[in-house]
Amino acid sequence: MIVENEKIPFDINAIRAEFPVLKQKIYGKDLIYFDNGATSQKPQVVLDAINKYYSQENSNIHRGVHHLSQVATSHYEEARTIIQKYINAPLQEEVLFNSGTTAGINMVAFCFGELLTEGDEIVISAMEHHSNIVPWQMLCERKKCILKVIPMTKKGELEMDVFDNLLSNKTKLVAVSHISNSLGTINPIEEIIEKAHAIGAKVLIDGAQSIQHMKVDVQALDCDFYAFSGHKVFGPTGVGVLYGKKEILDSMPPYQGGGDMISKVTFEKTTYNTLPHKFEAGTPHIAGGICLGTAIEYLSKLDIDAIQKHEYELAQYAEQELLNIDGLRIIGTAKNKTSVVSFVIEGIHPFDIGTLLDKQGIAVRTGHHCTQPVMSFFEIPGTIRASFAFYNTKNEIDIFIKAVNRSLKMLR
Ligand code: PMP
Repeated sequence: MIVENEKIPFDINAIRAEFPVLKQKIYGKDLIYFDNGATSQKPQVVLDAINKYYSQENSNIHRGVHHLSQVATSHYEEARTIIQKYINAPLQEEVLFNSGTTAGINMVAFCFGELLTEGDEIVISAMEHHSNIVPWQMLCERKKCILKVIPMTKKGELEMDVFDNLLSNKTKLVAVSHISNSLGTINPIEEIIEKAHAIGAKVLIDGAQSIQHMKVDVQALDCDFYAFSGHKVFGPTGVGVLYGKKEILDSMPPYQGGGDMISKVTFEKTTYNTLPHKFEAGTPHIAGGICLGTAIEYLSKLDIDAIQKHEYELAQYAEQELLNIDGLRIIGTAKNKTSVVSFVIEGIHPFDIGTLLDKQGIAVRTGHHCTQPVMSFFEIPGTIRASFAFYNTKNEIDIFIKAVNRSLKMLR
């Protein structure tokens, strides 16, 4: 369990030593992993926990009287408590396990959506990931609701005065990302939550790109829902979390029907289980949940403020060095941004740079990053995106800059 205030000082070499994948060579070069926005690498404690679960504890949870089932159940529920404490959720049952951010948003769009009626309005932003656009479009089609979009400026900042005008007594939910995955903008979610609440709307925060980079306190934020993915926060793939306020979750109908989510089943009528089980039908990703707990416990021992500062400095340094390259343009120049540097280079397709960087052992992402409306807004086919985690270094950025220049020599 988390020991409060016992923080490990930020020591980059010690941190890097925890991540075996970083010791690899790719095409004979030291791996430089700058694709953390897509998924993060896993520390040894998480790898060990996965191995331990499958080699010593594997069993189904919640229903077994035997020893292994009880061990797995208690570890799964302990993981829920670790996550509850980390995000400062008031209640353990407000932490729902699912398969990731996408699943969490779809669940809210379906179940909260069931409470909406024709003409109700949902507000999202111009910089959302497809998983925070499409579920709302599907809901709007199903329930004849209206989707409104907060526009952004050419810097990639939300136009907050327009947001004020979008809100009305018809607005039932505002769903925005905390940090944009393609621009790196940190959105003013505190202000968004306050303004949405003032007119009685609920707020969902897509935290897929934030919880690994900064302290998240759902009570201080007062958000109604907060979704994130395990794999982006140094945990396994296929597991994620949706935090939701108890009274709202209680008011929503269940999502999927099946085992564990019921209280009593007869052919005439089924009654549903209490939270969190009501929204967790079927056998969950047990190893995933437990090892996400391990990942969050690992993160909780690090100094998150030092991580935030380190990643901010990396992003600033990368931008400053990239801007020396002829014809290079940074996409997303918000004042408040972190950990993501997206750019385009005149006359060069992002994919070509990405391929040549790969051959030099450097992993970046190229393309639209599941934010096609952002690409349309900037009138570009895609970007080259370097996204940093706390285990990245300035030295890696120096090598990356040289590699971009070398690639350009080949392409120009
Ligand atoms: N929202 C944002 C901002 C993201 O960056 C991502 C992942 N790229 C998602 C949602 C979806 O996450 P997942 O695919 O893990 O469900």
